[in-house]
Amino acid sequence: MRLTELAHQQISPLIKAGSIAIDATVGNGFDTLFLAESVGRDGRVYGFDVQPLAIELATLILTTRKCADRCQLFTIGHELMATHVPQNCVGNVSVIMFNLGYLPHGDKSITTQPLTTLAALEQAFTLLQTGGILSILSYRGHPGGLEEFRQIRQWLNSMQAQLSPMLQQDSANPDGRGPFLWLMQKT
Ligand code: SAH
Repeated sequence: MRLTELAHQQISPLIKAGSIAIDATVGNGFDTLFLAESVGRDGRVYGFDVQPLAIELATLILTTRKCADRCQLFTIGHELMATHVPQNCVGNVSVIMFNLGYLPHGDKSITTQPLTTLAALEQAFTLLQTGGILSILSYRGHPGGLEEFRQIRQWLNSMQAQLSPMLQQDSANPDGRGPFLWLMQKT
């Protein structure tokens, strides 16, 4: 099973209808759609991506699947998420997903960066409710990817008392440069 699917499988039973979720890296929109379907018609999903193309594609998918009304997507970096979601999100978000790296089939030079990823993770932690889930899928194969992975691991270590691991899954890739998934729960 792909790590993206594993994340969905693990998170799905924990998302309550009517809750608030955030997709920190909209990308192709598959996580956004998953979150939108999971929170249901009374829920809210906020999504962030720096690429207009990603936001356009995701909007198309969400519209086709009749979930667009409960989603608000921003063509803005996730390092600014805290100032773009409504104030009632603070301490109230049930799930926040990060699927890092570059947009597949897109411009591979536009990737997430350690500094902004860490800033976004800090904000995500503040927005999460107690018991809320932080999902981070990190890619180590592209330039800068391994460094980003290491910095996230270090940050998670420093947050041990506040974020407890639900699942930490390495990919089958034997060279240690494949994707890595963390599912963390805010304690
Ligand atoms: N690597 C994954 C897909 C990741 S898509 C896979 O292979 O399936 C990652 C998305 O993050 C891209 O669409 C990219 O535009 C976006 N991104 C890059 N920097 C960002 C930032 N600062 N804030 C939000 N999204 C960002």
